[in-house]
Order: sequence, then C-alpha cells, then structure tokens
Amino acid sequence: MKTIPLLSVEEPVITCSTCAACCCRLEVMLITDTGVPERYIDIDDWGGEVMLRLDDGWCAALDRDTMMCTIYDKRPLICREFETGAPECIDERHGITTAYR
Ligand code: SF4
Ligand code: SF4
Repeated sequence: MKTIPLLSVEEPVITCSTCAACCCRLEVMLITDTGVPERYIDIDDWGGEVMLRLDDGWCAALDRDTMMCTIYDKRPLICREFETGAPECIDERHGITTAYR
C-alpha cells in the first residue's frame, strides 16, 4: 500500500504587529491599580472600573493610527495577561478579520 505524505500547511504567524488590536475591543476590567490615567477609565453597569471604549469599539487608550497601546507601561493587568496566540487571541482575530490593516 502506498503511503501518501501529509501536506505541510504552514500556520500563519500570529503577532500583535500584524493585528488590528482585536483584543483591545474587549471589556477590560481594572482589578488592580497599574496607574491607568483617569481619562481612560469608565464605570460599567455594575459599578466596576473598566477601560473606556470609544464609539468605534476600541479602547480609548489605543492609538488609532498605529493601533498600539499608548499606556503600555501602565496597561491593566488583564491586558498584560492576554496571551498572544492563545485561543482567546485567535478568537478575537477571527472575529474582526475585515478590520486588519
Ligand atoms: S494579543 Fe492577539 S488579538 Fe491582541 S493584539 Fe495581539 S495578536 Fe491581536
Ligand atoms: S489599555 Fe492598552 S492594551 Fe489594554 S485594551 Fe487598552 S489599548 Fe489595549
């Protein structure tokens, strides 16, 4: 019996530099104080502090031209723990593929 070699399908490289900051549209709760400036903080329906999002859906602290975080050193804990390439990241990227720059 002939063995058919498996095709090698290369996975696309997942990197934030080629992403439209998809995860920066999620609700980000502030559960520790990392020094986020007041102007970027909103209060959700349950009274908790969250990152403010603008009408376009993205976090107010995101630079719309570069799609980079403008408060990277002070970003919330949840942003620090959001892992590039993790299932949640891939889900977000698939969710708004039309927004890719
Ligand atoms: S963590 Fe994932 S979803 Fe967030 S900017 Fe990076 S590649 Fe995009
Ligand atoms: S604080 Fe920065 S990393 Fe976190 S959601 Fe906003 S722009 Fe993205």
